[in-house]
Amino acid sequence: MSQIKNLIDDQGKRTDGRTAEQLREIKIAVGIIKNADGSAFIEFGKNKIIVAVYGPREVHPKHMALPDRCILRCRYHMSPFSTDTRKNPAPSRREVEISKVMREALEPALMLEDYPRAAIDVYVEVLQADGGSRCAGIAAASVALADAGINMCDIVAACAAGKVDDKIVLDINDTEDKEGGADMPVAYMPHLDQVTLLQLDGILTAEQFNECLDMAIKGCKMVYQIQKQALMHKYFGNETELKEESQ
Ligand code: ADP
Repeated sequence: MSQIKNLIDDQGKRTDGRTAEQLREIKIAVGIIKNADGSAFIEFGKNKIIVAVYGPREVHPKHMALPDRCILRCRYHMSPFSTDTRKNPAPSRREVEISKVMREALEPALMLEDYPRAAIDVYVEVLQADGGSRCAGIAAASVALADAGINMCDIVAACAAGKVDDKIVLDINDTEDKEGGADMPVAYMPHLDQVTLLQLDGILTAEQFNECLDMAIKGCKMVYQIQKQALMHKYFGNETELKEESQ
């Protein structure tokens, strides 16, 4: 991660006009894929990601089934048109890694022991990437899992923080990711107050590390509110509107 100065101007504004503690605009739509058991579409800044969840369902191949719990399989994939240069559609080392960390970030929120010998498949398809796509993917996957009716003990929210021009900032965008000093993606369960993903690309002092983690957790709490609203809108939105109309 090469470090270039002047990504924050004299007024403290970043390349996309945000302040240090501001998130990009986030929109989540729930249940957008009819054929899936649960689904979500997230716009996290310029990231556009679709998540489809299938399951709990029978495991194929059968020998992968576990007698006492369900297995969770995640596939993170970037479409060839998701970046400025055409991305090779074959799974890259980076996509295999992100699929693995996504599974590890989501598993603690799921009551997998409720579905022995079954599998849950989570497909995360990045249509447009703008930095922070793993966090956006985790946030959308968590909502899609809830939409699929999977038993969960919490929602997993996710957001990155990082260092730009030696300043700690929330929700790193693509330019800041490539030209800034550090990127720390964090996934967090707000009710259980547990971090389920913590990665760091770049170098931070111990003090900066703590500041960055605190800021990322604050960001996760904001993302959680948007995830909750999206689910409420799908399941109670129309009902609320109907009640209002009948009054
Ligand atoms: P994240 O999106 O979670 O921040 P990375 O830090 O690994 O993950 O990637 C940052 C950004 O780099 C992506 O959002 C994407 O815009 C870009 N990128 C990643 N892989 C490719 C690729 N194969 N071709 C072009 N751009 C890519």
